[in-house]
Amino acid sequence: MNITESNYWLETVPDPVPGTSDPLPESVDVAVVGSGFCGLSAALTLAKRGSGVAVLEAETLGWGASGRNGGMVCTGLKLPVPTLIARYGRETVQQMYAASLESIDVVERIVQEERIHCAFSRCGQLEVACKETHFNAYAEAAARIKQEFHHELHIIPRSELRKEIGSDLYYGGIVDEASAGVNPAQFVNGLAKAAHRAGARLYEHTRVVNVKPEAANGNLHFRVATTRGSLIAKEVLLASGAYTTSATPALLRKVIPIGSYIIATEVLPSDLAHELSPRNRVIYDSKHFLHYYRLTPDNRMLFGGRAAFFPESENTVRESAELLRKGMIEVYPQLRDTKVEFVWGGTLDFTFDVMPHSGTLEGMHFAVGFAGHGVAAATWMGAKLAGVICGDADDNPFSRISFPAAPIGLRSGNSWALPLAGMYYRVLDYFT
Ligand SMILES: Cc1cc2nc3c(=O)[nH]c(=O)nc-3n(C[C@H](O)[C@H](O)[C@H](O)COP(=O)(O)OP(=O)(O)OC[C@H]3O[C@@H](n4cnc5c(N)ncnc54)[C@H](O)[C@@H]3O)c2cc1C
Repeated sequence: MNITESNYWLETVPDPVPGTSDPLPESVDVAVVGSGFCGLSAALTLAKRGSGVAVLEAETLGWGASGRNGGMVCTGLKLPVPTLIARYGRETVQQMYAASLESIDVVERIVQEERIHCAFSRCGQLEVACKETHFNAYAEAAARIKQEFHHELHIIPRSELRKEIGSDLYYGGIVDEASAGVNPAQFVNGLAKAAHRAGARLYEHTRVVNVKPEAANGNLHFRVATTRGSLIAKEVLLASGAYTTSATPALLRKVIPIGSYIIATEVLPSDLAHELSPRNRVIYDSKHFLHYYRLTPDNRMLFGGRAAFFPESENTVRESAELLRKGMIEVYPQLRDTKVEFVWGGTLDFTFDVMPHSGTLEGMHFAVGFAGHGVAAATWMGAKLAGVICGDADDNPFSRISFPAAPIGLRSGNSWALPLAGMYYRVLDYFT
């Protein structure tokens, strides 16, 4: 395969927002660590509400998962509803589900208000069943979601699946019309522009190396040391996602970084694109090691998966290209002779209970654990955290639940025994 190892979405951003070359200010109201959806959405809200904000980004703006994902803006939570209700109780889970729907509205509102050109479209999501047992479980799941959250999903029997997808591989599907698709790199770039317009100062190549609380005149503030000098912040917001480092060890202990990879084909003829995805949905399958795929706005097939369990490296990116191409052809034999032009990887932020979390750790605000739902959830959570910093009541259900750290033995220093976790999910895929 003759593939460019680069992120296709970046080709669609001709005018990436540069960070400021000004020196760091001596002090700010809020220092935001990380410039993905979470950090930039928080910075936008904070700046609009009059706070002095500095966004500190180790690489370039939007460099993390936010600029390299599938752009699938999906409803729902990762875990099944009965598991969630057993864990957290009905009322909290109802608030969580409502948040998952509201988060898509928040993305749509920001896109409209800030006039971000990022191909946002309410195209709906389609989950396809890899096994008959998976399909049989859809009816009960949809009934429960309707009963608990008054939200309607549509079951698609195998006999009607061709109206949704040009593949005969699956046993049926389930559609949620509320979900959307977006060009994530254009969205994160637009968020950066909007935050800058609102008055936030954006610093690239400014890695935070440690954060220390300091007391002055009876008040607590933070000294934030970076590779470009240090500043004092009244509040710190950690939006470093899967790329969290030992600069903030308390958060590092709670995040599981998992590599995910994507390929994008050459531009497809429009009749073939229509055959593969007649309703232009964002699609994923029912496995734990799932494949997710969609057409890009210019009609490439973008096909992703958790093809390897470690954060991305040059080797895993190359290996993933071939694995993903095989996966894509299994779903769509029509693409056997289609050229794959791009491959890239990124790192997802999982947590030990597979839930998003927010709140404070050692006095710093944080939000993390969006896994494959971060386009909407991280954008929503950033705005929520900003509201709390500005004095709003904290009605965020994800800040009320306990946040487990790494079990002993699964993590040693900065490395993780992730192959064990990988094996666990592969076994689950086999048996369920
Ligand atoms: C390949 C892939 C596909 C995905 N597909 C989807 C999808 O289709 N739909 C969906 O909803 N979600 C998807 N996700 C998940 C989603 O992209 C993330 O959950 C979301 O982008 C997280 O946003 P964030 O702002 O929390 O973190 P990020 O966007 O990861 O940003 C964190 C930033 O913090 C910076 N940083 C870290 N430490 C420091 C430090 N010490 N100092 C300064 N800066 C620092 C990093 O450089 C990084 O830029 C996908 C993720 C990947 C990797």
